[in-house]
Amino acid sequence: MRFVQGLFQGRNLLDLRRTLAKGQQPGAAVLSCSDSRVPAEIIFDQSLGDLFVVRTAGLVLDPTSIGSLEYAVAHLHVPLLVIKGHESCGAVTAAVEHPEATEGHIGAIIAQISPAVAQARQAGNHGHDLVEATTDLHLKYLEETLLRVSPIIREAVDAGRLEVVVAKYFLHAGQVQPLTSTF
Ligand SMILES: [Zn+2]
Repeated sequence: MRFVQGLFQGRNLLDLRRTLAKGQQPGAAVLSCSDSRVPAEIIFDQSLGDLFVVRTAGLVLDPTSIGSLEYAVAHLHVPLLVIKGHESCGAVTAAVEHPEATEGHIGAIIAQISPAVAQARQAGNHGHDLVEATTDLHLKYLEETLLRVSPIIREAVDAGRLEVVVAKYFLHAGQVQPLTSTF
């Protein structure tokens, strides 16, 4: 809400930096898109030491990004993992418009979003709606994937030590809305 209203918290970064040199205890881990418009620290009006953030284009996962999230859960004991997608995602748009992309390693990103494209298309979505429906499905797949492939994350959830929230950031409003209820 502070970000939406442009009322950012004042902070003494010099003091924070000195304190945090001794160690970190972030309040949440965030899986976010690399898109320059969606930095979790700014959107949530957080500061040094507050968030453990993993960013990849389209939030796609690989062993190192999953391992990074596992580190936050197992060793930093974050109580919250936010899977934060966003409106008008370029990676999702690319997966919709250029499903056969093979340039460099970009195809690996497209391939991971493709199942959501197929399902959103099958549900009758077109144009911009297709991009947004694909994004919502992809975010849900990311949650399912993390819980399936990572015993560290799943066991933390089962034990009540970790809450996973799937959310979407809306560029115009500047708001992050939970998506969990729509599935
Ligand atoms: Zn994006």
